[in-house]
Amino acid sequence: MLKVFNTASQKKEEFVPLQAGKVSMYVCGPTVYNYIHVGNARSAIAFDVIRRYLIFSGYDVNFVSNFTDVDDKIINRAQEEGVSEKEIADKYIKAFYADTIPLNILPATKRTRATEVIEDIISFIQDLIGKGYAYESGGDVYFRVRKFPDYGILTHESLDDLEVGASGRLDDADQDLKEDPLDFALWKNEKRPVIRWDSPWGKGRPGWHIECSVMSTKYLGKTIDIHGGGIDLAFPHHTDEIAQSEARNGQKFVDYWLHNGFVNVNNEKMSKSLGNFTTVHQLLAEYDDPMAIRYLMASTQYRRPINYSKDELERAQTELDRIRTAYRRLDSLIGSSDLGDDQQIEDQLTKIRADFVAAMDDDFNVANANSAIFDLVRLANSYVDKAQVKKNSALKILQLLNDLTGVLGIGDLSAQQKQEAYSQQLSQLLKRRQQAREKKDWHLSDQLRDQINQLGYQVIDSTSGQRVEKL
Ligand SMILES: [Zn+2]
Repeated sequence: MLKVFNTASQKKEEFVPLQAGKVSMYVCGPTVYNYIHVGNARSAIAFDVIRRYLIFSGYDVNFVSNFTDVDDKIINRAQEEGVSEKEIADKYIKAFYADTIPLNILPATKRTRATEVIEDIISFIQDLIGKGYAYESGGDVYFRVRKFPDYGILTHESLDDLEVGASGRLDDADQDLKEDPLDFALWKNEKRPVIRWDSPWGKGRPGWHIECSVMSTKYLGKTIDIHGGGIDLAFPHHTDEIAQSEARNGQKFVDYWLHNGFVNVNNEKMSKSLGNFTTVHQLLAEYDDPMAIRYLMASTQYRRPINYSKDELERAQTELDRIRTAYRRLDSLIGSSDLGDDQQIEDQLTKIRADFVAAMDDDFNVANANSAIFDLVRLANSYVDKAQVKKNSALKILQLLNDLTGVLGIGDLSAQQKQEAYSQQLSQLLKRRQQAREKKDWHLSDQLRDQINQLGYQVIDSTSGQRVEKL
């Protein structure tokens, strides 16, 4: 039975999805004004491992994430560079895929840009105004925090605690527009000729928090199973998401809140001022095996901090190479081995798999799960050293090794080329799309097209079938 640590209850809880066999999952994506940093990559990999384990456990996972492509940082960047906000967003969305594809992150079932749902955002805000939870002031719209008594429930802070914190922010330029310093913006009036939309409150743009509430509700429904993101997002971002969504929808927003821990660089918090701010773009340029970066992040439990350093990366590379070597050694013997099974091997495989599952079922404890993987590596190596290797047993060891390491997402071990895992992902998506089209399931076919786009390809349909071209 899977147990997950829910930030809202601060406890490990039994995971029971809303619908048997299905999981709806939303993870906050990046603001696209720069290359993603190792902290963004850590979050993406942490939730990719969680998603892969849910799939491994037999769940059908509907995974939605977003790009925040309208924001002060994007506007500032566009002005500095003398280009449009869309050009900045397009550039860094492309860079996001260029950085995350080599890290073997599965494409989202649906990944939306905030600017694609502006109409939905406006009508969501209108509903909140209609219910008395929000008010217009000077062309801005604010959420009336005191009208939502459970505000702060996620991080266990009362309105009074929060009020003390908010009073320190009174120099905020918008304070005189708010009824209460605790209130937060759903819509910002925009006088400058920058990215903005017409709305019932004049020209403006959405606040950041409202985007995720709208996208989660639109694509996954009013109540979802899992909402994830970095622990720094719990307050105010996720706290505000809960308030808006539950006020508007009148029902619980999220059953399980999962938050990943930070990344430190050389044992220090990563920050621009310390000069240790590391982008994935830099890392991929410096390091020629992206799977070592992936392994380093995937083999640390999602809530624990990761210390990134050259030494840690070297250690990860050594461990990864040990797994690959064990696989190849055993694989190379298969052609010359006799058919047949070794009962003793079968028993050990059953135990290793059970150990792996028990570890992952305990709030995705990848450190313990990885110990089970190394039990398997040792088993593979000792089997190779035996005089007689039986083919069926050897194949089962290799299969289990691929299945378990597949949850960490370190690529198909049978692939000799490091890039092969990625082209395999592409060909699987194409195959599934072909099948969907044969069954005239256009909805699934479109979803798969979207996922293929996320791998940097477009599909072209013709009478002779589908083919792909690089975007
Ligand atoms: Zn979000």
